[in-house]
Amino acid sequence: MSHLIKNRLSEIAHAWRPVLYTSALFGVVGCGPAEPADLILRGGTVYTANDDSPVAEAVAVTDGRIVYVGSESGVTRYEGPETEVLDLTGRTVFPGFVDAHAHVLGIGFREMTLNLEGTTGIDDLVAKVASRVASTPSGEWVTGRGWIETFWEPRRFPTRHDLDKVSPNNPVFLTRADGHAGVANSAALRIAGITRSSTPPFGGDILKDQAGEPTGMVIDRAQGLVGRHIPNRNADDIDRALTLVGERSLMLGWTQLQDAGGSWDDVSLLRKRYGDGSFKLRVYKALSGPSGPAQRLLEEGPIIGEFDGRLSVRTVKLYLDGALGSRGAALLAPYSDAPKTTGLLTSEPDSIRPFLVRALERGIQVETHAIGDRANRLLLDLYEEAFAAVPESLRAEKDPRWRDEHTQIVDPADLPRFVALGVIPSMQPSHAIGDLHFAPDRLGSDRLAGAYAWHTLITSGAKIIAGSDAPVERGEPMIEFYAAVARKDLAGYSDSLWHPEQAMTRQEALKALTLWPAYAAFEESERGSIVVGKWGDFSVLDADIMTISEAEILKTTNVLTVINGEVVYRR
Ligand SMILES: [Zn+2]
Repeated sequence: MSHLIKNRLSEIAHAWRPVLYTSALFGVVGCGPAEPADLILRGGTVYTANDDSPVAEAVAVTDGRIVYVGSESGVTRYEGPETEVLDLTGRTVFPGFVDAHAHVLGIGFREMTLNLEGTTGIDDLVAKVASRVASTPSGEWVTGRGWIETFWEPRRFPTRHDLDKVSPNNPVFLTRADGHAGVANSAALRIAGITRSSTPPFGGDILKDQAGEPTGMVIDRAQGLVGRHIPNRNADDIDRALTLVGERSLMLGWTQLQDAGGSWDDVSLLRKRYGDGSFKLRVYKALSGPSGPAQRLLEEGPIIGEFDGRLSVRTVKLYLDGALGSRGAALLAPYSDAPKTTGLLTSEPDSIRPFLVRALERGIQVETHAIGDRANRLLLDLYEEAFAAVPESLRAEKDPRWRDEHTQIVDPADLPRFVALGVIPSMQPSHAIGDLHFAPDRLGSDRLAGAYAWHTLITSGAKIIAGSDAPVERGEPMIEFYAAVARKDLAGYSDSLWHPEQAMTRQEALKALTLWPAYAAFEESERGSIVVGKWGDFSVLDADIMTISEAEILKTTNVLTVINGEVVYRR
C-alpha cells in the first residue's frame, strides 16, 4: 500500500473517531503544510510520559527536536519530499530509555572477559574457568565477573580449592556480580602475598577457613590486594569496551547511561569518540571521589551538554558501605543470619564532610552508594549537614539534586526525609528481584518494611530513578521495567515477605526509566518525555508494555532507537 493511500485511509478512519486528539491537547494541529520534518514516526502508539497528554499516535522531529506530537492525521502536514517516514505497524514508542546507574566501561569489559552471568553452581563456574584456562597461555591471568552464589545449591561462596582443580598455574580472579567480593585461586593469592597472617585493609575482609587459611574470598576493599596485580588494560582494550557498550546499549533501546564513577581518561575517550561521530549513546558521567578525579571537577567546574547534549560531567560518586549479598551493607542492627556483624562502612564520614560542602558551593552533584539502613541514614545526615552549612539562597541557586545510589534498606522513619531534603533515590529494580531470595534471611521480616520501598517513596513525592547497575545486573530495560512492576523474579516467583504493595505502577515505572532520570541529570526540559521542543529520543518496542501481561514484558524487544532525531539502531 502506498503512503498516500494509507494516509487517506487513516484520515477517513479519524473522521469517525471521537474527539480524542484536539488542538487543546497538542497545540499544533492547524491547516496547511508545516515546515517539513526530518523524521516522522506514525502508525503506532506513542506513550509520552507527559501527564497532560499521555498517549499519541505520531511524532515528528526536525533538527533533532520534536516539532509535533499528536494524531496520525495531524502529522501529515510535516511530511515533505525529504522526510523519512517510518510506519510503526502498531509498535509502541517511548521516550528514550535511560539506565540511571550503570558502569559504562564495566559493561564493555564484561563482554570482553569471562562472562559469568547465569552461572548455575560451583561445578558450572569451575567448568567455565577450565575452558578459559585451556585457551590461555600458562601463567597469564584469567579474570571474569558475574557469579551469584545465592541461586546455587548448595548456596556457598566458591573457594580457591574449587579453582585450583582446573587452574594450578594460571592466576584466577572472579568478581561476584555485585563487584563487592571476588574469589582468587592459590596462584593469585601467592602473587598477591595473601597468607594466613594477612590482615584486611579498612573497609575490606579476607575470609579464612576454620584452620585459619585464606579461602580465596576477598570482600570489598580487600579485592584491591589481588586486583592491583592484574595487568592494566591498554588503550585499545578500553576503546573496544566503549564500542561494545555503545552497540549493546543502542540495540537494547537505551538512549543514555548514567555512568556511576570513573576517571578523566574516560572523559577524554568519550570526547574523542563523540568528536569523530563513532559513539552516539548519551553518557551522563560521574567521576570517582572524594579525592583524585573529583578534585579536578571541583576546580574546573561542571561540563554540561557537550556534543548536542550527549555528554555531561557534573557529578561525583562516593561510597558509604558494601553490599547486602556479601554482608558488607552497613546495618543499624546486626545481620539476622550473622549476629556478630552489622556490616561495614567503606568511607570514614569525616573524610567526606568538607568535600560535600565544597561540592555544593561549586554546583557539583553528589551521588553516594548506600545500601544498608545505617549507611542510608548516614547519607541523609551528611547531606543534611552540608545543606545546612551554606546559606539557604545559595542552596536554592545551586539546586543540588543529590542522589542516593541504591537506597535499598531504609529505616521507615527515614523514608520521608528524601522528599524533605530533595534527595533522589536511585534504585535498581533488578536488585530487588535478586535480593528477594536472600534479603529476608539477612534482615529478618521487620526490616523488610523499608526495603526497596518504591510505593512509599513515590507516594511521598520522590522521583525514583531506575537503573540496572550493569555489569552487576544484566542491564536490559525490559528486565528493569518488569522488575519494577512485577516485583517478582524472572520466573514469576516472589517471597511472601517481599511486600508486593511496594511495586510500581506501569506509568511510574515508565517515568522511572525516562522523565525522572532526566530530572536527576538536570535535563528534564531537554528530554525524558515526548513533548514539542525536547530532543527527539525514542525507544520503539515490538509490544505494548503498558498493557500486556507481566510475563510478556520479558519477551518484548527493542526494534528502533532514535537519539536527537537520528536513527541509531534499527532491527
Ligand atoms: Zn554501581
